[in-house]
Amino acid sequence: MTTDHTLGAVREFLRFAVPLASIDLTHRYTQKELALFLPGIAVRGGLQLGHGGDVFQFSKSDRKIIRRTASELATGIAAAAMLAGPDGITVLGVHFCSAVRCTHTTEPAAAA
Ligand SMILES: [Zn+2]
Repeated sequence: MTTDHTLGAVREFLRFAVPLASIDLTHRYTQKELALFLPGIAVRGGLQLGHGGDVFQFSKSDRKIIRRTASELATGIAAAAMLAGPDGITVLGVHFCSAVRCTHTTEPAAAA
């Protein structure tokens, strides 16, 4: 079972890591390359989360898997946010988009 503390730590990590991953992607690739690579990068992040998510969230023992999962997750979310267009995406209640000066709210939408 997930605790708020654990989810809070993941959210805090993502708040810092995803914007850095987004900057890294835009510096690493041209716009044409990003159009080709972003879908695969986003999928790879999800696949790595499926492979190493439990270790990432609950274990301190396998640093290699933790490091790889954290990196691939942040990069995958950055790619997904870039693909999502101007509205961006929300992951674990944290908003991500490609706007330089985001004006979106980070609060989760109220349940209908
Ligand atoms: Zn935004």
